[in-house]
Amino acid sequence: MTILIQIIKNLFPSKIITHHICDLVNQLSEQIIKSNYVFLSIENENKTRQLFYSTIEELITLFNHCPRNERTLCEIIFPTNLVKTCIDFEYYTDNNLDINDHCIGASSFLKILHFTLNFIDHKHHENQKYIDITLQQFLVLEASTSQKISYHFLHANPTVLFENNTTLGIFIQMLIHVLLTSIIQHTCSHFNIPFKLQKYTTSDLIIILSPHITTLRLHCTKCYTFYSHVSISEIAHVLVMNKQNQCTLAIDLNVYSKNQQFRLYDCVKQGQNNFLR
Ligand SMILES: [Zn+2]
Ligand SMILES: [Zn+2]
Repeated sequence: MTILIQIIKNLFPSKIITHHICDLVNQLSEQIIKSNYVFLSIENENKTRQLFYSTIEELITLFNHCPRNERTLCEIIFPTNLVKTCIDFEYYTDNNLDINDHCIGASSFLKILHFTLNFIDHKHHENQKYIDITLQQFLVLEASTSQKISYHFLHANPTVLFENNTTLGIFIQMLIHVLLTSIIQHTCSHFNIPFKLQKYTTSDLIIILSPHITTLRLHCTKCYTFYSHVSISEIAHVLVMNKQNQCTLAIDLNVYSKNQQFRLYDCVKQGQNNFLR
């Protein structure tokens, strides 16, 4: 038994801890699911997971009693949960040695998200102030290591709630699709590729752009998409190289599934020490 589970059993002897999501859901009436419970998963040493639910107060007690490096907790988002926008932004530094400033990609995408979730263009503000306005709504957590850049953005003061995690995923995918299309369609003295709007998937658009990433980052500092606070040069930092040296998105589109688990603040993966904070 992990230390975390021992602590839970000491603090809350009647709490039921299960191995399967269906067992957890079956314990509960519909009413409990909709009220203020948090559903949590614990990552064990052997990579299995155990599940339980608690109130926010119980969770805070647990945080205070559990040593930091034993906090292998994730929140489970059910298909019935309304969700705020959240983004996992990550890539490996070794495969992206040409990126000097790792803030560019993250902050450019954050600004675009803020714009699309507020429907207001703060044209009258300086760029420096604009990131401050963005941070009034977004919480930015970081779990970067020397090998990996890793940010987690959470729309903590939301202007939009999504019906569920899958709907949020479609919104993010669509936003990226529009963004990539408008980069491809722009022309300037350094970038001009023949492009007809046809049935492209987002992956097709990434493949079309991949030979041009360096050019875009270097030269398109005064080129813009539909949004005037972020240059195409900055947005081009959202396209990165994966471990196989193929061009991909720094935004993880695989986190918008049913019963998705998100790591909690100041928690870790079993056996690692890059706390999310
Ligand atoms: Zn304003
Ligand atoms: Zn350009």
